[in-house]
Amino acid sequence: MTTTASPTAATNASVSASDRSSVFHSWSAQGSLAPLPIAGGLGSTVWDVDGREYLDFSSQLVNVNIGHQHPRVVAAIQEQAARLTTVAPAHANETRAEAARLVLDRAPEGFSKVFFTNGGADANENAIRMARLVTGRDKVVSHYRSYHGNTGAAIVATGDWRRMPNEFARGHVHVFGPYLYRSEFWADSPEQESERALRHLERVIQSEGPDTIAAILLETIPGTAGILVPPPGYLSGARALADRYGILLILDEVMAGFARTGEWFAFDAFDVRPDLITFAKGVNSGYVPVGGVVISDPIAHHFDERVFPGGLTYSGHPLAAASVVATINAMAEEGVVENAKRIGADVLGPALRELSRHEVVGEVRGTGVFWAVELVADRDARTPLEAARMGSLKSDLLARGLLPFTAENRLHVVPPAVVTDEEARRGVAIIDEALAAL
Ligand code: PLP
Repeated sequence: MTTTASPTAATNASVSASDRSSVFHSWSAQGSLAPLPIAGGLGSTVWDVDGREYLDFSSQLVNVNIGHQHPRVVAAIQEQAARLTTVAPAHANETRAEAARLVLDRAPEGFSKVFFTNGGADANENAIRMARLVTGRDKVVSHYRSYHGNTGAAIVATGDWRRMPNEFARGHVHVFGPYLYRSEFWADSPEQESERALRHLERVIQSEGPDTIAAILLETIPGTAGILVPPPGYLSGARALADRYGILLILDEVMAGFARTGEWFAFDAFDVRPDLITFAKGVNSGYVPVGGVVISDPIAHHFDERVFPGGLTYSGHPLAAASVVATINAMAEEGVVENAKRIGADVLGPALRELSRHEVVGEVRGTGVFWAVELVADRDARTPLEAARMGSLKSDLLARGLLPFTAENRLHVVPPAVVTDEEARRGVAIIDEALAAL
């Protein structure tokens, strides 16, 4: 469907050619790139330079929770730009304070401060630093199946294939988290998986030496690693272990927070309260780079008389702050969090589970607008679908007008939290056709 052709003479081909000649892309071998040119977007739709529309079922990097070009957020950035486009973190600024207050209003009792960062990785970086300074301990325990960002300590805390051995980052220990479909613990029920994963976590803590461990760092729902909704009791069990051994619990809500799971914070659906919360992505849908750490009272007070050695020139940038204020207000007034929850329960969840009739679908799991369809070459053996067939599926989905998010052998179904019932159904129908054709 052709809608919004580029106002310039640019075409997909011309933009691709200039991109290839000058842009060095992240996480890619540069030689074989063919990135889709994106010219614009609105709500759950984006279009390329030739004017071809796609349902954005990736939310870009699972961050455009409020949809593309939300008019209130765009206007707030424009108004702030007209008033004050930059101010150093050391100054007080009304918009930044309002952004912090709105984030704190969504956090549980007992959280009193927000430290702003430029994104998710440096949020984790600073949360780890706070935990180390407060406890006087060094080690950080995180999951193998996790992603916490691509900076010094965050990429070492990451447990998936992107983990980067880094001689300057020390003290990172990984454990297997719960993942019943591919259980490391020979478990055959969610309860057993939870109990055994906790026993494993405790054994690792004991073996490492509890008094060497500053923090347990967990994605509330591991995202890029597979949208692994934790089984009952796992997060509260991790909290109990942290308490037992004097360890701080950091929950990484960078991908899961701000409406993605149908909650403000994904942990709101679980019986757990962290000591530090990291956030980014959905807090302003990436309209301006921002992230942060929500700090509980005792940790905030620890730094009343001690310097916290952290911060960058752009921390708490006014354009970012204005976009956070507008996003949270718009989400609250427009029921975006509730929409994500309802769509997940009533539309996306049931429609995606129906896809299990395709032999290649191994498991469907998720919540809100945060779903993974795990694809297998052999259902009984649970053999992951080969990379070549994942590649064909991805191209076919694009050709059918859906921009997908794929990771290893999984299709992550992660539209904006403002997705409508009709868009959700249309997207799943496209996936259904593509799976049939696979
Ligand atoms: N933590 C989680 C759970 C993420 O999914 C990501 C990014 O995907 C990050 C941290 C890193 O965020 P950023 O890319 O903004 O640094």
